[in-house]
Amino acid sequence: MIRRVSIFGATGSIGQNTIDLIRRERDRFEIIALTGGANVDRLAADARELGAQVAVAAHEEKLPALRDALVGSGIEAAAGEAALVEAAARPADWVMSAIVGAAGLLPGLTALKHGTTLALANKESLVTAGPLLMAEAKAHNATILPVDSEHSAAFQALVGEDLAAVERIIITASGGAFRDWPLESLASATLAEASSHPNWDMGQRITIDSASMFNKSLELIETKEYFGIDPSRIEVVVHPESLIHAMVGFNDGAIIAHVGPPDMRHAIGYALNWPERRALPVSRLDLVQIGQLNFRPPDETRWPALRLAREVMETGGLAGAAFNAAKERALDGFIAGQIGFLAMAEVVEEVLARISAETGLSSAPITLDNVREMDHLARQRAEEVIEASN
Ligand code: NAD
Ligand code: MG
Repeated sequence: MIRRVSIFGATGSIGQNTIDLIRRERDRFEIIALTGGANVDRLAADARELGAQVAVAAHEEKLPALRDALVGSGIEAAAGEAALVEAAARPADWVMSAIVGAAGLLPGLTALKHGTTLALANKESLVTAGPLLMAEAKAHNATILPVDSEHSAAFQALVGEDLAAVERIIITASGGAFRDWPLESLASATLAEASSHPNWDMGQRITIDSASMFNKSLELIETKEYFGIDPSRIEVVVHPESLIHAMVGFNDGAIIAHVGPPDMRHAIGYALNWPERRALPVSRLDLVQIGQLNFRPPDETRWPALRLAREVMETGGLAGAAFNAAKERALDGFIAGQIGFLAMAEVVEEVLARISAETGLSSAPITLDNVREMDHLARQRAEEVIEASN
């Protein structure tokens, strides 16, 4: 059966890997919507090649360029948030949520409201509004398939298992670019140094988040929200080889580990073919050649983001929305050269403390409006903290 597919964030790293897989089995898929950001040429070229119904640019000022690039193709061009929502509401069987950041929430929620299966790479959706997303999926009988490699790995280890028998979920972390750096060098780490990952090839923002462990801290919260498991049962282990992505520990002492090459096309392909498993163009591991797998405890002095994530899970409510937004603004600040590498965690911690003192983080219910308001407030507070530090 032909699968109708839309890809949100098609021009990014996850989006391009998704397109790579679709291209290899072109006749299994019909493309409904592709969306992108600044790279209008890429978006238009992919929309033409795949025969999409509609191409959507995130920002309205890109609409004239997108229209030009699609002239004569018969493909609709659109732009802006309302257009993203309209595209997410179009009938489809499978939607990839691969926009980076909090902007990914609304299209994902919209797809779920229409009962569409949501392949979720956008971890920020679960971090900012996990209970809302899960409730929306349940209400509309829609499936969410995790695409983050750790969560896909745990999901696969849980096929046929009873969640009640799960004692713990262990997610692995490579340790990112600065795993072995002396602590005193971290303060002066540069943007270029933070933007190169030892094992994975990903978008720039998530690569920097891997160096700071903000990525793993988002994934801790993502694990709690997606699997509905108590934070005390979620562990992070540093595993420099990035070959085991997650492990599930059961009440009989067994641990089921998911092992695979560090290639996002595995997790994307698993979600794309689910509930089937089909051949994927990823490398096959030679375990004899690999020889050994290593594990270390995560050091919270080196990576304070992990401690902050535990506090956020403890607080609950809108703390995840505040945490993510403050992190996004702090990351913008690091990328723009406004603040240093270690200051990112300091900014986030200060923002959480300020908002907690002002309005509290856990009181208001998790609605889209409240999440957006908290997102706005946390960015504003982060801005103030960054300004004050300069
Ligand atoms: P990326 O930066 O390479 O691509 C992001 C995509 O989102 C692009 O298409 C961009 O145009 C679009 N976009 C950016 N800002 C937008 C906005 N405000 N509104 C609408 N669209 C916008 O990012 P990526 O590395 O592909 O990551 C995408 C998501 O997947 C993130 O949530 C990330 O955490 C998650 N993820 C990525 C990887 C990976 O290997 N890259 C692994 C696991 C999870
Ligand atoms: Mg991951």
